[in-house]
Amino acid sequence: METGGGLNEAKRWVEELVGRAARVASGAELSKLREAAGDRGSPLSSLYRSMKAIDPALRPEVGRQLQELRSQLDSALEAASAAVLAQEVEATLEAERDDVGGYLCRSRYEGIGSLHLITMTRMELEDIFVALGYAVTEGPEVESEWNNFEALNIPKFHPARASQDSFFLDFGDEESTLLRTHTSPVQIRLMQAQKPPIYAIAPGRVYRRDTPDARHTPAFHQIEALVVDEGISFANLKATIESFTSAYFGPSIKARLRPAYFPFTEPSAEFEITCTICGGSGCRTCSGTGWIELGGSGMVHPKVFEAVGIDPEVYSGFAFGFGIDRLAQMRAGLPDMRVLPENDLRILAQFRGRR
Ligand SMILES: [Zn+2]
Repeated sequence: METGGGLNEAKRWVEELVGRAARVASGAELSKLREAAGDRGSPLSSLYRSMKAIDPALRPEVGRQLQELRSQLDSALEAASAAVLAQEVEATLEAERDDVGGYLCRSRYEGIGSLHLITMTRMELEDIFVALGYAVTEGPEVESEWNNFEALNIPKFHPARASQDSFFLDFGDEESTLLRTHTSPVQIRLMQAQKPPIYAIAPGRVYRRDTPDARHTPAFHQIEALVVDEGISFANLKATIESFTSAYFGPSIKARLRPAYFPFTEPSAEFEITCTICGGSGCRTCSGTGWIELGGSGMVHPKVFEAVGIDPEVYSGFAFGFGIDRLAQMRAGLPDMRVLPENDLRILAQFRGRR
């Protein structure tokens, strides 16, 4: 019969195109294939046009087979199009992966993501301070030397300014800029912008020229609390640190203060908490003392108030801060802090869903 030849020819033609679709390797090849599939002179199109000449008794069966061929061809083209898109996405990711820079972005599209352990820790801390009545503030990571040092009573030639400790971006005659070495410049900005009372925390990323080791990375995160009001005393500072410690670690963990020196506070104290590993009985992590140092604290130095135009005769205040990475490391029991910026999904995935 006349249509038998036409149908076989159309079948062979569709088979050939489906075969080509499975091997498509580029967008250009895909366009050529689409063009061929839409050709009005193709065996499939010719057969469609000759339908009215076919014996009416055979027409339904031929029509069914034609439909099937058409849908085989359509699915093959759809699959080829998806494959080309996937290849292009993969190639773009591969090309851009190295540009973004090793430490910051090594992960690729693999499964469902989650918040980073540091982000989760920061959000937990923010929640606690917000519940205690503090506002969350942020500032830029590129800071002026004045905000980062001078205003915080860290004069020129103080060792903390040395280039071996800081990443300077620009040594200006009048004013240099650098990657902030702590979150304290946010306090300077805040005190310049807002009149007391101030109850605020400043979380964020900071930079120091530390050689990476188990307890240090050149970029890390801090969180600082600042309170400025009338009649704020050292007893308020101690009570606030205690409230925070029991809210975050639980009531069995205590805090204690030990005298220390910081240029921007007077008096200053380091604060330690009960070792979370041994519960205070003494272990290797706490060198047998039962205590772990968490951060620094103190009463805001009058010179800092003078630098930002707050009258130290009227107002007093305290500040305390600590490293978020160290806290995340302690709570997750990570032996080496360097795993945090490396973004190894095998490690990060273990903390998925904690928040
Ligand atoms: Zn211990």
